[in-house]
Amino acid sequence: MDYILAKISSKQLLKIKCPDDCGAFLCDQDVYQILKATREVFSRYCKFKGISILSKNPNISWCVKAGCDGYMRKDLQSSNKLVCKPCSQNMCFLCKNPWHGEEMGQEAYGKG
Ligand SMILES: [Zn+2]
Ligand SMILES: [Zn+2]
Repeated sequence: MDYILAKISSKQLLKIKCPDDCGAFLCDQDVYQILKATREVFSRYCKFKGISILSKNPNISWCVKAGCDGYMRKDLQSSNKLVCKPCSQNMCFLCKNPWHGEEMGQEAYGKG
């Protein structure tokens, strides 16, 4: 909350970015709602606004775990193993399945 209050006091209302770095920006009305409400509302706001932005980002993958709406971002230097922050689920960025190990891939499926 301090982050938003600081922005308001410095009159940067038009460019308040989500502190969770989901890419969403807040407008004045949003900020008002946030200040009235709790952090829970704020994160919900980020989900609504964030989903449309994140869906267009090829480096973003949604958590594979049922019931979890977390997402993971693949950095250029990291491996294909992604870890969901909310639920600690590990998953593979390439096949969007739960993590199966670094070098498995085609070989594991080709035998049989
Ligand atoms: Zn998750
Ligand atoms: Zn995979």
